Amino acid sequence: MTEDEWAEIDLITAVARGVIELATVACLTTFRLPYPPSLQLALDRVVTVGLMRGLPVPTGVPELLAWCREREPAEWPLTLPRGFLTLGARLIHPVAGEPTRTCAELASLGPHGVLAQEAEATLAALADACGTVERFAACRDFLINRPVMLRFDPVELLQPRVAQTWNLVKGLYTPVPDRFLSEGLVRCCTSCLLLAKSTMKGGPWCEGDCLPGARELQLSHQPEKTLVLPLALRLFLALPGRTEQVVRSRLKEQVQLIPLGLGAHRVSGDGVFRAFQVCTPEQPVSAALRSAETANRLGGPLDIVVPDGLVARPGYRQGFDKAIPVGAQIRLLSVSEFTT
Ligand SMILES: [Zn+2]
Repeated sequence: MTEDEWAEIDLITAVARGVIELATVACLTTFRLPYPPSLQLALDRVVTVGLMRGLPVPTGVPELLAWCREREPAEWPLTLPRGFLTLGARLIHPVAGEPTRTCAELASLGPHGVLAQEAEATLAALADACGTVERFAACRDFLINRPVMLRFDPVELLQPRVAQTWNLVKGLYTPVPDRFLSEGLVRCCTSCLLLAKSTMKGGPWCEGDCLPGARELQLSHQPEKTLVLPLALRLFLALPGRTEQVVRSRLKEQVQLIPLGLGAHRVSGDGVFRAFQVCTPEQPVSAALRSAETANRLGGPLDIVVPDGLVARPGYRQGFDKAIPVGAQIRLLSVSEFTT
């Protein structure tokens, strides 16, 4: 990427961070004041760039949010590098009114990234509190298996086999955000285990973007008994964690957790060690850039393992491979490729 290209990317990531910040304090479809300063500043930057280029600009935050839902960033007054985002990408889901995974990934890109970084900081603190990698691995698996507890049952979690883990992770859970309540109900997807909405148009929506046929919604009439992990852990730990557990179960070799960042693994076979990280990025270009940073921190080659369905998307592998920075020791593999 050139410096000019990074300046354009920095602008769209600033808008994404503003959208994420707004989503943490309010519902994206109802406009309440004041808006977070990050969103206001991002708007000012988009307007300045648009005016300098003589292109249409949003008149205020509400219109900027409408753009996030209705226009892909290629239609904004930005000149993002060709192929930087996949076709049809949006920052806000047009029907569900929630930040998309694309938005979350962009908000995590670059030196000012917020969301994946929040997940990493939370996991690092948890690893410290755990003291051993084994205990941390048990806690991490607990979070992956229960990103949303629809009917929190304190008695179950005080059983001896889970009590120690629960004591270490319980501070991470919070009540479900109000915007996920509808008619007194809260919904969770049985496939990705994340929060869901029963939208009027286009059928149900869930945070993991599961295929409609693969998804059922579970309901709770007692939202006060629902506990959820923060968005950062839901999207950057629990969502890829489901696929990671499948990968780990298919490998015959010994697999060891590397407690770094969101968590990578080391697998040993034939006397050779390989490190891998399972992730579920919607955007291949930003994924390649972030993966290169992870490999750099690990100080060695890293296999990035992604669900088959994502790798099979048109242009996904090419987009990822083209974006790998010079010298970065990463390669993209589908789950099937990695486990056979
Ligand atoms: Zn789902």
